Amino acid sequence: MNLLTNYHSHCEFCDGHAPMEEFVKEAIAEGFSAYGISSHAPFPVPNNCNMHRERMSAYLDEFHRLKALYSSQIELYVGLEIDFLDDSFNPSISYFRELPLDYRIGSVHYIVTPDGTPIDTDGSPDRFKTYIDTYFEGDVDEAVHRFYRSSFRLIELGGFDFLGHLDKIGLNASLYRPGLDHEAWYRRLVADYLEAIAARHLMVEVNTKAWATRGRFFPNEDYFEQMHRLGIRVVVNSDAHIPTKINAGRPEALQALARAGYTAVWQLSRGEWVEVPLEG
Ligand SMILES: [Zn+2]
Ligand SMILES: [Zn+2]
Repeated sequence: MNLLTNYHSHCEFCDGHAPMEEFVKEAIAEGFSAYGISSHAPFPVPNNCNMHRERMSAYLDEFHRLKALYSSQIELYVGLEIDFLDDSFNPSISYFRELPLDYRIGSVHYIVTPDGTPIDTDGSPDRFKTYIDTYFEGDVDEAVHRFYRSSFRLIELGGFDFLGHLDKIGLNASLYRPGLDHEAWYRRLVADYLEAIAARHLMVEVNTKAWATRGRFFPNEDYFEQMHRLGIRVVVNSDAHIPTKINAGRPEALQALARAGYTAVWQLSRGEWVEVPLEG
């Protein structure tokens, strides 16, 4: 097993821009030892990102075809990125627990507005701004608090292997109000969340999707030292939507983790999460 892996990856079964097989071929071409497919799981509110529930068996069938075809060249794993919406829909529900998956990612993208509308906090900054102005009368702090209430509930309920891109709302919220993610109350929220994560011994993703465009990881590098102090295990993932991005930002994230004191990251190998040293 080498340090070239990625377990957060979207393909044409959700909002990715290439067939599942293209990601696998790219991973083999780049010398990856393992690769995981994790489409956005079916979601109760219709949208253009999440996989439709009727396609689940086709998703699993295509994965197993590729796993058999490429088994001599790479370890392949199938997962899902599962949304938290509320207590009735999240990674802990029986539908997800019963699916034959290798792993599950728990992520918050949606928050529920005061009038009960679920809105995606994860899209373009312009759409986020429209949502905050329309549903929160500009009170971005309230939207952020709702995001973290959902995040805390997600980890209480469990049902996933690692937490996807925590602190992600820090990007859109700080584009709405510059500096918001460095305000004391925001940093306290993330710090408290990290303590709750550590108390539950949960694994956290360092998501490198926006490194090249925004110069930040999710969570932000500022939190890596606290994460290390708390003993939080990390998995580094690119959240790729096109095959050429499968390794984007990964070397930089591994270096940043080393600077913060980390000596190893966690990866799936022979079906188990194992600790892989940063220095060979
Ligand atoms: Zn996500
Ligand atoms: Zn994703």
